[in-house]
Amino acid sequence: AKAEGKNRAQLYQSEFTTSLKTKLELEANIELAIANQAFSLHFQPIVNCSNNQILSAECLMRWFHPELGYITPDKFISAAETTGQIVRLGRWVIRESFKEFVKWQQNGIELEYLAINLSPVQFNDGSLINDISIALAETGINPKSIVFEITEGMLVHNQSYTSNILKKMKKLGIRLAIDDFGTGYSSLAYLKYFDVDILKIDRSFIMDIPDNPQDMQITGAILSMAQDLNLKVVAEGVETEGQLAFLKAHNCNTYQGYFKSPAISGDEFVALFKNDKQV
Ligand code: C2E
Ligand code: CA
Ligand code: CA
Ligand code: CA
Repeated sequence: AKAEGKNRAQLYQSEFTTSLKTKLELEANIELAIANQAFSLHFQPIVNCSNNQILSAECLMRWFHPELGYITPDKFISAAETTGQIVRLGRWVIRESFKEFVKWQQNGIELEYLAINLSPVQFNDGSLINDISIALAETGINPKSIVFEITEGMLVHNQSYTSNILKKMKKLGIRLAIDDFGTGYSSLAYLKYFDVDILKIDRSFIMDIPDNPQDMQITGAILSMAQDLNLKVVAEGVETEGQLAFLKAHNCNTYQGYFKSPAISGDEFVALFKNDKQV
């Protein structure tokens, strides 16, 4: 038993070392990746529940690594947050996604909005408001067409700083969405106080509909609350007809999920949008 314990300790040690090594390599590689244009943007449709047509899009980052293949954002974003590189990366996302949006507009693709994820680190960096203003001025995009997604945790911490930045963002005319709603510690008070426009119901509540009565109750409650507060809703991670039927029955405006499409390249997005509009 003692030998076994020792082996296990060694195993943990080596797993730890490996993950640390990967993490450090990822961190070093992010700079190179930016320089080599290894990052790209994918777009996931946000869909009208009532006719299943595309209304908007969320921009999701991808990193293609020559040896490791596609690295999902769940892995590299936390590494980039640790080193602060997310600020540069996030700035790149804002610029690139705005450019893509303008390209779409010139191509006759009119969306209600383009949604962009914000990291807490990026949010707390002093350059954010300036970055957004510059990107808006350079592209001439109507600020109403831009939604920034923030998480509940960002609202709770450092409230005076947060409210100051959010007020500045709203003053620019852009809109705000709460991402992964229901998984943090938000309250109705926060939603009112911070002048949020859109709630995105986290996938974990949608996943087990229609088998889990509790999830259906929670989702139903969020939807009726959102209506009372005049907030738009996006249900995340919709994969089945049954989930969509439930959402429709509870007056949910929009959804995102594999039932319509995963995140796809800009060109694929244009094709899918045009396909929707064909009679
Ligand atoms: P998120 O903002 O909650 O994005 C939704 C995630 O769910 C995406 O994963 C998307 O591909 C996935 N998803 C969408 N529909 C379905 C579905 O029907 N079923 C399942 N199983 N999954 C679905 P992805 O692209 O891997 O992104 C993961 C997270 O990385 C995002 O979660 C977001 O927090 C973060 N992220 C992505 N791009 C950026 C970015 O540009 N900046 C920042 N700060 N974070 C980003
Ligand atoms: Ca998001
Ligand atoms: Ca989300
Ligand atoms: Ca999520």
